[in-house]
Amino acid sequence: MTHRGTIAVLGAGAIGVSVALYLQRDGRDVVLIDQDEPGSGCSYGNAGLIQCASVVPVATPGIVGAVPRMLLDKNQPLHIRWRHLGSLAPYLLRFLREAQPARVEANARALSSLVPRAYEDYRPLIEAAGIQSMVRPSGELHVFETDATFENAKAANFAIRRAHGVRVDELDADAVRQMEPGLARSVRHGLFLPDCYQTVNPQRFVAALARNFTDNGGHFIKAKVTDIALHPGGPVAITTEGGEIVSEMVVLAFGAFSKPWARKLGIAVQLDSERGYHVMLPEPGVALNRTVVSGEYKFALSPIDGKVRIVGSSELARVGAPPNYERAMRLLPLARHLLPGLNEAGHSLWMGHRPSTPDSLPLLGPVPANPNIIFAFGHNHSGLTLGGTTGKLIADLLAKRIQPSDLSPFSPTRFARAA
Ligand SMILES: Cc1cc2nc3c(=O)[nH]c(=O)nc-3n(C[C@H](O)[C@H](O)[C@H](O)COP(=O)(O)OP(=O)(O)OC[C@H]3O[C@@H](n4cnc5c(N)ncnc54)[C@H](O)[C@@H]3O)c2cc1C
Repeated sequence: MTHRGTIAVLGAGAIGVSVALYLQRDGRDVVLIDQDEPGSGCSYGNAGLIQCASVVPVATPGIVGAVPRMLLDKNQPLHIRWRHLGSLAPYLLRFLREAQPARVEANARALSSLVPRAYEDYRPLIEAAGIQSMVRPSGELHVFETDATFENAKAANFAIRRAHGVRVDELDADAVRQMEPGLARSVRHGLFLPDCYQTVNPQRFVAALARNFTDNGGHFIKAKVTDIALHPGGPVAITTEGGEIVSEMVVLAFGAFSKPWARKLGIAVQLDSERGYHVMLPEPGVALNRTVVSGEYKFALSPIDGKVRIVGSSELARVGAPPNYERAMRLLPLARHLLPGLNEAGHSLWMGHRPSTPDSLPLLGPVPANPNIIFAFGHNHSGLTLGGTTGKLIADLLAKRIQPSDLSPFSPTRFARAA
């Protein structure tokens, strides 16, 4: 199949679908390719939050001292598999470098240029698809059972947020309970981020956006990509299990699976899978109005389709490593502690690959040696959040409304330079 003059977007997660839609709005002929239905990858089972307040990178000074515990203690919210230490070493070394205060500040500044605009960048896509009812201005509630964790959070994570203009409301126990009456009496404090939005279900949200893309004449091809061949300055040949597609340009949006493809296209990137888990409770017996994050245990309870999804855990391991659902099951008693009466009957488990980079920043923009190749992956913990923004930025780049230099913190070659 030849698509002269077209752009092939590889990957139909929150990122690829949003890029395809924004390019389509600019009148481009777009082919969207995924081995699965849209929204089946990491975008399937996340907490469903458009987190316009997530300006804090994962690597911060406090995390350096915690690395030995992450290796030795499987119960840590972030765990590193020993077996994969060798292959993860370059990532971890860079991660430790990114935890230095000057780097934390630079990375937080870069995130602050993206996440606060996230909902506004989705808005035109949401309105065009007629799915306003799928997104609510719910805010995000962090709760604390001890004074010490509350004070630490205010002095560290939430201080960075406030320094970068994020609105944070402090709540006492009564105010927290008014917002979420089901929470345990042990909750003493809350920090509320009013500028966050909740999707009813992230998979259904992405699928609805993708339907709008095809309703508007966009092509979706369900096929596994097995090879990409470049012709400098010319078309790109994409081999799939369903045949060959030739396009003028390629946007690489395979999420955590992008690294070998980036290498094939000539760029070494530091990208690894930071696996996360969910436990879905179809009959929770307790209602939630918004996502609640435990300050002590670093997991979240999210209202998905009116049910409860327990979301959490970070585990650095290779993309192909099998899931360890014990990590998901460990979240159940913690969730019952925070939301007493939670019913686990009929629960289901899921694991997803967060596309994580050591500096918590995505790779966005053209590859200098071949401007027909555009990177749009590595969105870490905020890929659902940043779909609309990434789509808009890539469309703006291709239409020359912005320059690659406007996206320099997200340069596709920043890890290659350091390697
Ligand atoms: C537990 C958990 C909770 C999270 N909560 C949130 C949240 O509340 N808010 C938020 O913003 N982010 C959240 N995240 C992060 C977010 O889910 C990811 O950043 C985001 O889904 C990444 O989107 P993506 O489009 O880049 O990748 P994906 O959604 O993984 O899409 C990549 C696509 O590429 C396809 N693909 C890969 N290789 C091939 C191939 N060879 N051929 C064809 N297709 C291929 C896959 O099938 C997949 O559909 C969470 C993540 C986890 C794990």
